[in-house]
Amino acid sequence: MPEESRCWVCHRSEAEVSAFADVETPREREILQQMSQVTRFRADFIASADVWRKGIPKEFKEYDFRFVTSNADQFKSIRIGNGLLGEITVPTKLLGEIVDAKRLTVDWLESVALVLRKGDGEVPGFGALSPFEEADRDMLRRMVDQFEAKWRRHIGNDGSGGVDSKRYKSGFDGLNLFDGLEFMIAEGTLYYDVQAQLLDMARRKEINSKPKRGMSVLTMNGYPPVSLCSVCVGIMREPSSRQSAVEHAVPQQVSAAPSPRAAK
Ligand SMILES: [Zn+2]
Repeated sequence: MPEESRCWVCHRSEAEVSAFADVETPREREILQQMSQVTRFRADFIASADVWRKGIPKEFKEYDFRFVTSNADQFKSIRIGNGLLGEITVPTKLLGEIVDAKRLTVDWLESVALVLRKGDGEVPGFGALSPFEEADRDMLRRMVDQFEAKWRRHIGNDGSGGVDSKRYKSGFDGLNLFDGLEFMIAEGTLYYDVQAQLLDMARRKEINSKPKRGMSVLTMNGYPPVSLCSVCVGIMREPSSRQSAVEHAVPQQVSAAPSPRAAK
């Protein structure tokens, strides 16, 4: 095929086809939006974490983290007469925020830790891991393993896997309000990092699944072979998209015989 060959249907050159086919797909755009959301939410989470650290009354320090966060309503109704809490509404709102953030991040991470570690199975809100590259699944596994090794705690309560895992504690077991809050902040941060990694995987998969750019040669019985670009090949494969707006004119009837001029 000569280098200056043009597509028989749309007359694009090879370079023009490459430029055209390189546009973002709607799915790619959607993933990019989600990625920037995750980045923003992660920053918000870290900013909130600072407020939580400073806002929790020291008098609550020795309370069990899991007990307080699973009885937020109970704590809301407590009135402490001796003034330990000072203004009651501030810690109440704070506790609600912590509980909400924990539900969003930690609960999800706990539900998915085993799947990430195995590198196989369904991730809620994402789909199955099996179609992804081994290197990507290894990365997710490492994120979980390294986190647990650093804290010497399992994310969830399943208590399996990981290096030296028999000596790990389970989730929030035995953590007081302050230490539990630190563990929760770390888990929440990991949650956003895992989300970002999953989105990056989805994005690369979407990019790789785009039709190959360039020219191919179409041979029809009884006619000389013609050059056909990947864009037009894709359009012809999807009859429903023939009517949609595509740059340049696309013939309605692609079954028409090639003209001797365009044929090579
Ligand atoms: Zn074409």
